[in-house]
Formats: sequence, C-alpha cells, structure tokens
Amino acid sequence: MTDDKPLILLIEDEPQMRRFLRVTLQSQGYRLIEAETGEDGLTQVASRKPAVILLDLGLPDMDGLDVTEKLREWTSTPIIVISAREQEQDKVRALDAGADDYLTKPFGADELLARIRVSLRHLARQESGQEEVIFDAGTLKVDFSKRQVFRNGEEVHLTPIEYSLLTILIRHADKVVTHAQLLREVWGPRQANQVQYLRVYMAQLRQKLEDDPARPVFFLNEPGIGYRFRSSD
Ligand code: CA
Repeated sequence: MTDDKPLILLIEDEPQMRRFLRVTLQSQGYRLIEAETGEDGLTQVASRKPAVILLDLGLPDMDGLDVTEKLREWTSTPIIVISAREQEQDKVRALDAGADDYLTKPFGADELLARIRVSLRHLARQESGQEEVIFDAGTLKVDFSKRQVFRNGEEVHLTPIEYSLLTILIRHADKVVTHAQLLREVWGPRQANQVQYLRVYMAQLRQKLEDDPARPVFFLNEPGIGYRFRSSD
C-alpha cells in the first residue's frame, strides 16, 4: 500500500461501525485513521490532515454538529456525516454548518464509497481551481460562458431563478444541497424558510430538463433535507 492513497479520518465511537468501515475502506486501498471522540478527531484533523472526514453525529464527548462547526472555522476538508435515524434534525443542521454530505445508518459499502469518490472529486476540482465552462451530463448540457442550457441538443430557455438554481446544483453535483442553502443562495437570507418556492422551481426545472419529469434522473429529492443533482452514478 502506497502513501499517496487518500487518507480518511473516521470519527466514530461504535466499534462495530468502525470495523465495517475499516474493512470497506481498506479493501479499496484507502488509508484510514480513527478517532473515538470529537476531541481526538479535531486533534487528528489538525495533525494528520486527512483528505476526507467521516463523522458520526452521536459522539461520547461532544455533538458531531459542534465538531463540524469547529472544523469549518479553519478547514474546508470534506466532511461526510454519519447519522442514525433519530438524528435527522441534527443532520440538516450539520449540513447547513458546512458538512458536505451524509449517510444514514445502516448504509451499504457501495453508497459509502460513492460518497467518498464524490468528495475527493470536488476536492480535486477545488484545488486545481479549474472552472468548468461546459457541463455535460449526457442529455443535459450547460454552456456557462453563454448561459445556455440544452436538452437533447435543443436549447431550453430558463428563467433567471431556474438558471441560478441549476448552476448551484451543478456546482455541488452529486452532493446533497439543503433547502436552506439553496434558498439562501438564490433568494437571500430572509427567505430561508420558503421551501415551497423550491418545490415550484424544482418542478419547473424537471419539466424543462428531464425526459420524464415524474421519474427524474438529474433533480433528485432528498426528503426533509434538500436536493441532489445527479451527474453520474
Ligand atoms: Ca455514536
């Protein structure tokens, strides 16, 4: 095993969960370090500089939400929150505090590995500083330089709000974006509770850009949390 494999920090107190994650990640060649408490996790992020952090929300010494807030004061390392069903509300708060994505227990190895790949991809793009001019997801294409959107090769007219929503979702492609985050970015901080706006505009985007709006392949709903734009599988 070489040193250039991404280093992943797991902050999780449950031994069984740690064992499952250890086996899964090491089988894919990732290097793994572990912390059982929030305090130890924070220390290890600073000293070991992992590429991705997997963070359990229910830790013995502190809340995963507090860990997220503390980390976001100084680092943008991707954080994937691991939560139990009863932590649904905290999960949204952690995402709004700057976590990148989430997994709800129990989850499968494939789901975990897909989330990690997405985080690493975003990280690589951030570090290279490259802005995409053309976004291409098969039937859907966007030319950012000309603000043009195409479905199956035909230009589709979007309103400014629809276009703005689409570009935010594409910028966060394959990661969840919370309702509050979308509302803040498109309508401003005072509209952060107007989830019904989003439903209306998301329905319009599906109508215009999905082959079958009733079975969306791009604009996926994450119930109670937000939306995820799927650009790949
Ligand atoms: Ca726990």
